[in-house]
Amino acid sequence: MRMAQHRDRLNAMVVSRKVAYRLYPSRSQGVALLSMLGAHQRLYNAALEQRIAAWRLRRYGMSYANQCRELTELRAADELYQNVNAQSAQVTLKRLDWAFKAFFQRCKRGEMAGFPRFRSFERFSGWGYKTHGDGFRFVPGDGNMHGRLRLSGVGVIPVRGRARTLGEVATCEIGRKAGRWYAWLTMQCEPKRTRGTKAVGLDWGVQTFLTIAHEDGSFAEVANPRLVRRAKAELEAAQQNLGRKQRGSKNRYKAKNIVAAIHHKTANRRADFLHKESAKLIARANLIAAETLTVKNMTASARGNLENPGRNVAQKAGLNREILATAPSAFLAMLRYKAAEAGIEYVEVPSRTVKPSQRCSACWDVRKKTLAQRRHVCSCGLALGRDENAARVTLFWALARTGREPTWCLASIAS
Ligand SMILES: [Zn+2]
Repeated sequence: MRMAQHRDRLNAMVVSRKVAYRLYPSRSQGVALLSMLGAHQRLYNAALEQRIAAWRLRRYGMSYANQCRELTELRAADELYQNVNAQSAQVTLKRLDWAFKAFFQRCKRGEMAGFPRFRSFERFSGWGYKTHGDGFRFVPGDGNMHGRLRLSGVGVIPVRGRARTLGEVATCEIGRKAGRWYAWLTMQCEPKRTRGTKAVGLDWGVQTFLTIAHEDGSFAEVANPRLVRRAKAELEAAQQNLGRKQRGSKNRYKAKNIVAAIHHKTANRRADFLHKESAKLIARANLIAAETLTVKNMTASARGNLENPGRNVAQKAGLNREILATAPSAFLAMLRYKAAEAGIEYVEVPSRTVKPSQRCSACWDVRKKTLAQRRHVCSCGLALGRDENAARVTLFWALARTGREPTWCLASIAS
């Protein structure tokens, strides 16, 4: 009963969600967006210059509040900034403030501290707004699809994108990536998802992206998308093309945009893949068990160190790239918030103590195997795929942990 109440509360929670929309500005709106970007870039650099000068001349550390006060005068004096929404100018000052705070923190930790830098137009990515209705207004299209974004000083721009759950719009960020314009709206929403009825244990690997173990002993697999490999040829050609262009030329700028667009497209496809697969899992599960993530260890260990040089470095590096390319950490993050939205129990299985890839799912003994061994063969008589066995260990541990029992093979959780 208490669990049910807890789940209902989870189902009704308010979460902040960032939704990306692509802008389709007219030619004149495109010009206005660029000039707005230029104004924010100059404001950023001017504010940085001001901080440096105040320190050099007066040993005075300017704060965000100081600079906001001066902003009013600046807006009155310089017509460049009169077109810029006051709140969004504050956001740019705030971003500079963050850059300084991060710098001071790095200094404190004794790291190589990069002092905040002046940003060229090329390196300046965008600006933001703090309050819906002040400088920007978003009107969604039918069925939450697409819509229109009004920016003060620019006009009403058609946008494409979709919020799965439409919420109250809070803030907006405008940015330019690979020659395209985007808006990221944060929305306060109360998302609702329906959950399924199965308990599932997960194992992700290199050969198969995801192996899913069910309570009834059956398995399902999600194949690796191999997006990076597919994009690789395309990327190599584009990079070669870029290398042939003269520095500073317009053609080089274009070629650079093509490279960035391929990276961007690959990232989008990967995110799309991860969203779809995580949503599918949620729709059929009421308990999800997954290993704690050790990707960092897996990728770091290939090269080894002086005392402990890695073996098969090249082979493992390729393998590591593949692991990173399938982005299990992003997948897990999506699973976690979707599980919360649907009120599903999400059990994180500690790999270090449970050792799902080494343990036998039938007798619970640890059977060491190398990464190359793709089969789990145990003296108790169990023989099955390595990933299937690991997914099953994960599932059983979670079932035992949450007080449920697997419907078959009770012996396996006895110890
Ligand atoms: Zn066994």
